[in-house]
Formats: sequence, structure tokens, C-alpha cells
Amino acid sequence: MSARVGIGYDSHRLVDGDSLRLGGVDVPYDRSLDGHSDADVLAHAVTDALLGAAGMGDIGQHFPDSDAQWAGADSMELLGAVVVKVSAAGFAIVNVDCTLILEAPKLGAHRDAMRARLASALAVNSARVNVKATTGEGMGFVGRGEGVAALAIAALDHAD
Ligand code: MG
Repeated sequence: MSARVGIGYDSHRLVDGDSLRLGGVDVPYDRSLDGHSDADVLAHAVTDALLGAAGMGDIGQHFPDSDAQWAGADSMELLGAVVVKVSAAGFAIVNVDCTLILEAPKLGAHRDAMRARLASALAVNSARVNVKATTGEGMGFVGRGEGVAALAIAALDHAD
């Protein structure tokens, strides 16, 4: 087997709303994330990490935001579709690690649910998925509460 790794990064703007969709979990908050799809910044970062590790481009190539069929899309379904493509190309997911970067709200109570939802979409045991969170310490667009960012890394095996 040969190992591949890929990185993913995404950010979305915060707007007036009532919850944040993060890793397929709706976290109650007085803001929401703005985007063409459901703006699930965590799902998008994980999707790009998988595509990167597989050498299959990025989420914008597979689901262009110029295409109306992806408006309001459930990003966890898009992630599931990418998992199918990556698996069909002969890759197995070893692990996925990710970090949400947001000033608020605290995510501790939702982290296990995000991990379980991501593991389900990735079709792996939740032990292969890790979700972390940190703040911007008041600095930059995250610190000013203008948006939320997410980083992800995926390791894949390919039976070469
Ligand atoms: Mg995005």
C-alpha cells in the first residue's frame, strides 16, 4: 500500500441567522454561515482534503457554485459523493483530522456529534476521525467574528 495525504481549507462569512452547520451538525447560535450551499465549512475542508490526497482536484471542480443544482446543497451529501469517487479510484481512508477556527460559540457539546456525522459520511469508524476547535484570539477575520474557517488533513492508502 502507498500512503497519500491531502490538505483542505475553507472559510465562510457569518451573517444574521440562528445556527451554524458544521460537520453536518446544526449548532445553535445567533449567526449563520453564508454560502452557495449550506456553507458547511468543515464538510468543505474535509472534502478538499480527500480530493487532494487522491489527486482529484478540488470541491469547486466537482460541484461548481455556478451550477444551480448545488444551490443549498447538503454538503455532507457532497462529501459522501466524493467518498464514493475516491473509493472507486482505489483509495481507502486511513484517517481525517480537522480544526475549526471560530471565535464563538463553544463547540465542546457538539464535537462528538460532528465526529460521528463525518465518520458516517466517510464510511469509517469514528476512531479514524478527529475534530478540534480553536479561536482567533480576537485577531483577523475570525477574531472579529466576520467568518469561520476550517482546516483538514486526510491520509489515504492506495493498493498500487
Ligand atoms: Mg465552502
